[in-house]
Amino acid sequence: MIIQCIKCDKEKQKEEYYKKSKNKNGYSLACKDCLRKQMREYNIIHKNDIKKYNQNNKELLRAYYHKNKSIFLKNSKKYYIKNREKHLEYMKQYRKNNKGRINSLNIRNKKNRKKSLHPQRNEKIIKVFYDMSNRLSKCLGIKFNVDHIFPISKGGWHHEENLQVITEVLNKKKSAKTDFFLL
Ligand SMILES: [Zn+2]
Repeated sequence: MIIQCIKCDKEKQKEEYYKKSKNKNGYSLACKDCLRKQMREYNIIHKNDIKKYNQNNKELLRAYYHKNKSIFLKNSKKYYIKNREKHLEYMKQYRKNNKGRINSLNIRNKKNRKKSLHPQRNEKIIKVFYDMSNRLSKCLGIKFNVDHIFPISKGGWHHEENLQVITEVLNKKKSAKTDFFLL
């Protein structure tokens, strides 16, 4: 079945439209591309309103997420599998096109790391943290990282008292937040 999109006027296969039982032919009036574009534009224009709404309805959104968690997870897995090659190719291109940016970031990180070395740190104890992280990763089959509790990028020290071993997943969630505490 071929449908004409009311937005771009192009004639496209029915797979290019969202299913919508309310409509006569069972499909959306505009094609997926047009609706996605519209959604993107809407999100950009109403960025601040959306942010405010999300902040005011945190609990509601959280409850909604937990109720539909399995569907979300299934969809994101499906999306990842479907777009894996595309994503990898994109990352490859990004690295290629942003060599200068990535290099300067690496240099900055190196400088930060050097600056963050605490003069009274105990290298032996610090090594224990890294050994522990490696051993936990091997034994449990989950990746662990040594994390700087107060992030180096925010002026934290590379010192044994500022280190903790946490899972990589948690570490990514934490990233450079300073108000993130483990229970
Ligand atoms: Zn269209």
